[in-house]
Amino acid sequence: MFRNFKMISNVIFGRGCFKQTDEILAAKRETKKSWVVFVTDDVFKGKELEKRIPLHDNDMLLWVNVDDEPKTVYVDKLTEKVRNFSDNLPSGVIGIGGGSTMDLAKSISLMLTNPGSSALYQGWDLIKNPAVFHAAVPTLSGTGSEVSRTAVLTGPDKKLGLNSDYTVFDQVILDPDLIKNVPAEQHFYTGMDCYIHCIESLSGTYINQFSRSYGEKALELCRDVFLNDDFNKKDKDDKDDKDDKLMMASFFGGMSIAYSQVGACHALSYGLSYILGTHHGIGCCIVFDALDEFYPEGVKEFKEMMKKADIQLPKNLVKNISKDQMETMISVALGLEPLWENCLGPDWKKIMTREKAESIFIKI
Ligand code: NAD
Ligand code: ZN
Repeated sequence: MFRNFKMISNVIFGRGCFKQTDEILAAKRETKKSWVVFVTDDVFKGKELEKRIPLHDNDMLLWVNVDDEPKTVYVDKLTEKVRNFSDNLPSGVIGIGGGSTMDLAKSISLMLTNPGSSALYQGWDLIKNPAVFHAAVPTLSGTGSEVSRTAVLTGPDKKLGLNSDYTVFDQVILDPDLIKNVPAEQHFYTGMDCYIHCIESLSGTYINQFSRSYGEKALELCRDVFLNDDFNKKDKDDKDDKDDKLMMASFFGGMSIAYSQVGACHALSYGLSYILGTHHGIGCCIVFDALDEFYPEGVKEFKEMMKKADIQLPKNLVKNISKDQMETMISVALGLEPLWENCLGPDWKKIMTREKAESIFIKI
């Protein structure tokens, strides 16, 4: 059975294109009562970007905090706030931020039209009703959330996305100018999320020409950004060029995994994050660094990139966790069956036993 892939409807790309947001949203403001909600990372409070948000009188500016990655309880709280803001539903939910904020915006747009807690919809195709129109303005590049059909949430008993065709954004606004001030370490970790998407997709058993075409281009762009000799050169044109490339790498990397799958690194990092709350980008880096057995070439290149960016990863992360926590971490990781099947083939259970998973966790 072939997947009938739902893609985002509209994309705008270019340095400065964020200023067209108001014009784009105008089509959604059909009546005088129409309003939109800007779900915005609170890192921008008091910053220049705040002043540039095209807020109309009856719009809502909803600051969100992503110190912790999105949880179902937080989504439910935010959705309630949006519902209580007005008698009618918003005509648009616009997420401005990195992967966490984009996933919050996707989740809110879905939960406004689907009853109950977001925890009920963690899984595949459980969402019943179409979402409110939703758009993304990425301010951090790498996760590919801007193109994916999932919104990753940690719930009461699992870390799993709201995966559905309705989750996909209706509009994406790709303005590379918005990622220029990302702190260097965060830029690296989220950028490496994209690099790892490419490696896992391209070396997986689910690979096909659709995914390969996007994945190879994304990988080439990542190499330009993170392996180029003058990576540390602060020349503005050079930095602009790299930001353009990383923004498109994220987009293409997301397209690549959308029609294939991620692999061992993502499965294990989900386990890590479920127990320790480790953020996605850095968590993937920590795990990937220990996966040379599965991705020898990729890990070698990743280590070179780390060296160039002068990144030191934290060590001995799991040394203080209990036996029970370790068991849960392994169960969460091994529960992600398609990821393992993509990485190791249909007989993956013979290779990735609980003991093997534990031995990798102990290494990190
Ligand atoms: P993030 O959104 O969690 O943000 C990381 C940090 O960077 C935060 O402190 C944030 O405030 C800050 N930040 C964002 N933009 C900034 C800017 N322009 N300047 C300065 N600081 C900025 O990071 P992320 O790596 O983009 O996203 C990780 C999240 O994405 C995780 O929750 C993960 O589960 C999710 N994810 C989703 C998908 C998907 O397909 N939906 C794929 C991969 C990861
Ligand atoms: Zn990822």
